[in-house]
Parts: sequence; C-alpha cells; structure tokens
Amino acid sequence: MLLALFSCELEEEVLQKNNYRENIKIRNSTFDALLNEQHFVNAISKLSKSKPAQSKTVMEAEYGFTILPDQVKVLEHKGKTFYTFQIKREVQNPDYFENLVIDTDSIGQTDAYLFKYLPTEPLAPSEEHDSFHFKGAVHITPITYNIAIAEKELHCVTATVMMCDQSWSGSGSTTPHVATQYCNNPNHLTEVTTTTCDMTAGGGSMGAGAGGWFGANQGSQGSDPGGGHAGAGNGSGTAPGSNTNPPVLTAPVFDLDQITKCKTISKQMAKFPGLKQSLIDLAATTSDSHENGIFIDKSATAETPDPVQTVPVGSGGTIDINLNPPSKYTMIAHTHDISGTDGTGTFSIFSSDDMATISNLIQLGKIDTGDFVFYVFTADGTRYAITINCTSCLEAFCYPCNENLAIGTVLDMPRVLQINALIDQTYNKADGIHSQSDPVNDKKKFLEFIKEANLGISLFEVDETLTAFEKLELDPKTKNVIKKPCSN
Ligand SMILES: [Zn+2]
Ligand SMILES: [Zn+2]
Repeated sequence: MLLALFSCELEEEVLQKNNYRENIKIRNSTFDALLNEQHFVNAISKLSKSKPAQSKTVMEAEYGFTILPDQVKVLEHKGKTFYTFQIKREVQNPDYFENLVIDTDSIGQTDAYLFKYLPTEPLAPSEEHDSFHFKGAVHITPITYNIAIAEKELHCVTATVMMCDQSWSGSGSTTPHVATQYCNNPNHLTEVTTTTCDMTAGGGSMGAGAGGWFGANQGSQGSDPGGGHAGAGNGSGTAPGSNTNPPVLTAPVFDLDQITKCKTISKQMAKFPGLKQSLIDLAATTSDSHENGIFIDKSATAETPDPVQTVPVGSGGTIDINLNPPSKYTMIAHTHDISGTDGTGTFSIFSSDDMATISNLIQLGKIDTGDFVFYVFTADGTRYAITINCTSCLEAFCYPCNENLAIGTVLDMPRVLQINALIDQTYNKADGIHSQSDPVNDKKKFLEFIKEANLGISLFEVDETLTAFEKLELDPKTKNVIKKPCSN
C-alpha cells in the first residue's frame, strides 16, 4: 500500500503530540560505532539466521542488500530504540531509496522492516539541520526472519516517520525535511503515521481472498495520494492487528552524496593519489594543436602502480575513445585545445558530442556509472567535471546512437527531432556555446542543456590545483548560476 507522506493534525491532538515529540531522542551514529553498544549487537544478531550478524555483509547474503554503514539514525522513545540504515542493492532503482529499520525494546524483542521511499519531487539537500527535503510516498515491508512474530502480526505495519518543517527565512524550500539530530524544536517536528499492509509476511496462508481485499484497499489509497489524510490511525480500522503495537519510529536516511556527488570525486582522488597530478599535467596541454586524454578503468585498484592510461589522439585532432575497452571506465579526462576542430578555437565546456560519447558508452555497458567522473580542461582556462546521478537519463541521450542501428529500425522521430532541437538551441545559435562564446554564458547554457535534455548529471567547476570543486546549479527562480563548494 502506498500512502502519501503528509502531515495533517487536528487541533485537539496538538498538545498530546508535542508531549510525544519532546520524548523522542534522535542521534546519528555509524554501524561500527554501534557495534560497541550491546543493545544494538543483540538486536542485529537476531536478524541473522545463521550466525551473529556482526558484519553488514550478512545482510547481503541473507536478504539481498547491503547496509550503508556510515550513517545511522537512532531514534529512542519510551524504552524502544529504532535503528535506521540506508541499504543498497546490486541493481539500484533510481525511482526510490530504501531503509532498513530495526525496532528493539528494552527486553530485546526485535523486529525489522524495509522502508521504501518514493519521492514525488527531486530530493534536495536542506541547508537547515544537515538534512534533505522529501516529499513522496513510503512503502513498508516487514522482514520475516522471525516466524513467531510474522504469524502473530502478519501483514500490517504502522509506522511513524519523523519530519521537520522548520526553515530559516530566506531559504527557498517549503518542502519539509527529514528529521535529524538537529531538529530539536518540538513545534517544528511533524510525524507522519502510515499503515502498510503486505502479503509477504502472511505467505500462502492468507489466500487469494485476503489478497484481493488488501489490493482494493491499496487502490483506494493510491487514488488520492495528496489528500493529506494519511494521518495517525488511518488504515487502522481496515487493517487487522495493526494497532496492537506502538508504531515503528523512523526518519529517512539517504546518502546525500547521491545528489551532490562531491564524495564520488574526492573518493576517487583519495583512491588514486597520482590522479591529481596527472590531471594537472593534462590541463597544461591545451596549447597543443590537438586534444589529449587520459582514463582510469575498473581494473585499476589503489595498489595499481600506474592506473592512469592515455587515450590516443584520433585523425581529426580529437581524442579517440575506445568504445569497447576490456574494463569499464571510471574516469575519463580530456582537453579542448586552442585550435579546436576547425582551427577557430574551442568550446569552453563539454560538447554535445562529449555527452553523446558517454551516453553511447553507457549503452554499451562500458561506464562504471556510480563512480564515474568525466573532466574537461579547455584552452579558455576553464576546468569542469561531471558525475552521473541518473544512469538511465544519460543513457537515453544518444539517440539514434552510432552503429547500434540495425537495418529496418523504426526510429522515434519526435524524439530524434527533440534532441536535435535541444542541441541546436544549446550549441548552434548565436547566443549558444561555440568556439568564440563567453565562457561565463557557456556555463549557464550548459546547465540549461543538462536540465532540458534530462542528462541526469552534476556539473562541477574545478580550480587549477584540482583541489576545490564547486557544484554548479541554476537558481530555479533567477536562472543565475549558483556555486556550492564541496566540503571534502
Ligand atoms: Zn529540522
Ligand atoms: Zn570534449
């Protein structure tokens, strides 16, 4: 069942709720730090069928996911402790993110649930409270490691998701952010209580009739996701057994670097200590009369003596990237040289061909998309990097794409025309990106291109020491370029 996360509170409930909120403690931790807390060790041990689960990899073997160990939210309320982790699967679906919530009480009774969060607006970092904005739906599935509990509780879970609507004046978003340890003003904490009913816990014993009944209920909820009545108690009347226990208490955990991608760059730099100097050296070659390029592929480890390889220069003075490399690319860097392809100078930023090449490589399965960084250093003195946030978005860009076309292929002509029009508008117009255009304006044009063509990438400007990275975004209101420095 999907229910919108939406706060609606009746006035008579406010006092009672404030009392409830004041009693909630939220703190941050890490998996390793929690292994020093006996209460947590006991709880996580119960999740393993085979052995004490004192390693996050046990989850991978038994449940098909990995715990991201760096960020854990611990919520405590009236003797119960709730540990929330973000989890990751081998194949990530970009439409949602998932949390594991472990619910344990003072006598060690433990339950665990998977929370699937489906944003209806793009996730965005919140300046306040080290958090992020979330609007969307939540779907909860109990983990049925404990048969006794599964038989007793079965299919309905009531959960309270903590949000915070405190915002500073001047900050743009009115979307509530998820509660963090810094959200300690109970007047601004809001809880969204939802009940999810699932067939998974009941297994075959529930039968088809029950399935239909829950299915119908789910449909009626789904049809009115913005109604604002996913409030406390909703669903309890139609959800047998759901209210016998206090709700599972959680606040969403999501690695913001999946939006900002700053860490993707810094981790790669840290993994390959020689990379920075290789990039600086490459950036110094823009006065050559041809492009230069380097790359790192997935075969390279931190121990590889020379992870950086050279991209050959092709006949037109542009780099000749191998579309069928033995290992996926994790980094490609190239120059836009002073003469450019036609001798009149160069683009100060990535070209549409650059984007098409990466898109093509994704289609061919040759990009390690999660860790991939793509650089360009130009004769205009500009330095940029991009990372991939949405693989399927960038993958779709190159269309029709090079040699992939079989004879008789029917093309989606509106799509072809739409992409061509976007490229035309970005690069071929007088005010577009061309060899003589103003690099400051090019930046803005390219950011517009990212948005319009739905490239699913982040753009960074880089200083000449390859140390300071600033994420570039378009202010949605003023359309000006905003720079957000990466902190690490
Ligand atoms: Zn807050
Ligand atoms: Zn290029």
